[in-house]
Amino acid sequence: MEFCLKRIIHITALCAVILLFIACKEKEIERNNSKIKVAVSGYLPYTLAKSIFADTAEIQMLMPPAAGVHSFEPSPKNALQIKNADFFFYISDRIEPWAKSLSDGVGTIGIALAYNLPDINPKDPHYWMSFQNAAAMAGNMAFITSEKFPQLKPVILGNADRFENEMQLLDKLYKQLLSNCKTRDIYHIGHNAFGYIARKYNLNFQPLNGSLSESEPAAAQMANMIKEIKDKKTDYIFSEKIINPKLASVIAAESGAKILNLYAVEDITKEEFEKETSYTQFMMMNLENLVKGLACN
Ligand SMILES: [Zn+2]
Repeated sequence: MEFCLKRIIHITALCAVILLFIACKEKEIERNNSKIKVAVSGYLPYTLAKSIFADTAEIQMLMPPAAGVHSFEPSPKNALQIKNADFFFYISDRIEPWAKSLSDGVGTIGIALAYNLPDINPKDPHYWMSFQNAAAMAGNMAFITSEKFPQLKPVILGNADRFENEMQLLDKLYKQLLSNCKTRDIYHIGHNAFGYIARKYNLNFQPLNGSLSESEPAAAQMANMIKEIKDKKTDYIFSEKIINPKLASVIAAESGAKILNLYAVEDITKEEFEKETSYTQFMMMNLENLVKGLACN
């Protein structure tokens, strides 16, 4: 009898645990179902989406870290990721020429974020390196999704406002902290992604790699840069971790200058992706290194 009672108590407890488990599972499924599904081409739209949607969206990034935004080619798996999403966000048809036909092909709304931007230089497709443009691109993302999901409108538009404030603050800090520097010459062993910052804050970028991250610098160009760094007794050169760090090390060793990193946010290392370093954080790291490297006070 005692055994039977024990057994019933045991079975009841077990049933309670199972019921609780099922209830929890259902809740989890319900929560997942209420999330927007967003696919993004690469890290720039990814970090904007994180800022705008926070945890109201499931975000799939097509381009893995360190894949190279200027040379990326999508796979059938990427087409499926876009197909399963409510929206697919990418930077522009110029940066990702494959994006529109891929999203059209699977019937998902594909949106190039670079439209109605306030600060456009037709020669430079790195639009997001202007803080005004970054705010507008995040605003475009927020506006389009909040139209389709009105229940999330307050959260999404509130986050877009906060992001815009952050961009205004970055602009103020850049103006202030880069106003009085020993030099405005930047020897950049990377690619030509910083034109918007250069123009806005009056800096003289000298990139070694041309406009595409994958192009190789000519030997003569390299030798000239090393000579100039030595002649001007420049303390720091700048580099992009993701692009040819060995080349920067060679130039640093030859010229005696030290290396500081700059980030174009279009592509990132695996470690940076795991840390989910945000656009604003990358831009603060850029500012810190520029202030140090150009000896601003
Ligand atoms: Zn680029």
